[in-house]
Amino acid sequence: MSATHESSLRREVPRLFIPGPVEVEESIMQAMLRPMIGHRAPEFSVLGEELHRNSQRLFRTEDPVFILTSSGTGGMETAARCGVKDKVLCFVNGAFSQRFYKVCVSNGKDATRVDVPWGEAVKPELVREELSRGDFDAVSIVHNETSTGVMNPLAEIAEVVAEFPDVFLLVDAITSAGAVPIHMDSLPPIDYLVTGSQKALALPPGLALLAVSERALERAEKVENRGMYFDVLAMHKSWKKHQTPSTPTIALMQALKDRLQMILADEASWFGAHLEKAERVREWANGSFKLFAEEGYESVSLTCIDNSRGISIADLNGFLREHDMFLSNGYGDLKEKTFRIGHMGAVSMEQTNTLLSLVDDFVSRS
Ligand SMILES: *Cc1c(COP(=O)(O)O)cnc(C)c1O
Repeated sequence: MSATHESSLRREVPRLFIPGPVEVEESIMQAMLRPMIGHRAPEFSVLGEELHRNSQRLFRTEDPVFILTSSGTGGMETAARCGVKDKVLCFVNGAFSQRFYKVCVSNGKDATRVDVPWGEAVKPELVREELSRGDFDAVSIVHNETSTGVMNPLAEIAEVVAEFPDVFLLVDAITSAGAVPIHMDSLPPIDYLVTGSQKALALPPGLALLAVSERALERAEKVENRGMYFDVLAMHKSWKKHQTPSTPTIALMQALKDRLQMILADEASWFGAHLEKAERVREWANGSFKLFAEEGYESVSLTCIDNSRGISIADLNGFLREHDMFLSNGYGDLKEKTFRIGHMGAVSMEQTNTLLSLVDDFVSRS
């Protein structure tokens, strides 16, 4: 049992240094124990109104931010299904941007993928070049590629997409929103921006937040077969009453209420803590290993480390588990070739330093 853990909850599982789900502090877990309320009762609209207002404040947007009872993929599905008319261009530089492409295809959209080597960022010039080739009506991009530790230059990409007035921008910000500030009012238009509760918002899994532009709501009226659960127009209709179309995960919304209050009360510390941990881990990785991400595009949410020493990541995690913590092996084909350390959630700099020393110990013994 870790001596540094301040919780009164018995800790029988290792501390999470994985990029989601992340550690959630006990005070936030406790918020979920508030008495249940009816989702059509006035108490719910009070909660809903606060969540809607505070999520708009977090993203600095006047656009509605819908709260979906689903994991992040549900938000991606909404964007693909309701946001694309016919043809979408999907930039793929990792496993999650590939997922976005697959979500578009499986929702019956005519999707074209542009592959960028994993570990590299999607550059604005490439976006301009590829968009000029065809009559696309949407572009999908993952802001922070969780599989490679690359943060794509969202503002620059959005600027290029804005050069094409009929092209809507769909952004998976699942591991960026909450780890870095995303101020939509000072960015070129983003039509769909999605995040998930278990990543940088540091909540248990089960919620997706989805900001949707006015013009995207207008377009959705002309999109057929929007389905039911992820119909953005149904979400909008309920949102106006500070409700949700179907029964939401109310307990998690209580936790979101406290989390949003906490972030907004001191955004500089919240975002600063992520950057500080990221810089520390990058500095360590540059000394002990190598960074996997292209220089200049390193993620603030997690660090993906090139296993340049060829250690066994599975064995490393076995060793770390003996010390009540674990990190992430590489994703898919990057398994054993890379490993990832998350900077999201309730892990402190001190705990991060402990993890790094343990990795050093393991390396010196192998
Ligand atoms: C975790 C993640 C997802 C998928 O989210 P789920 O909540 O598992 O549906 C999508 N995109 C990125 C970048 C992620 O990190």
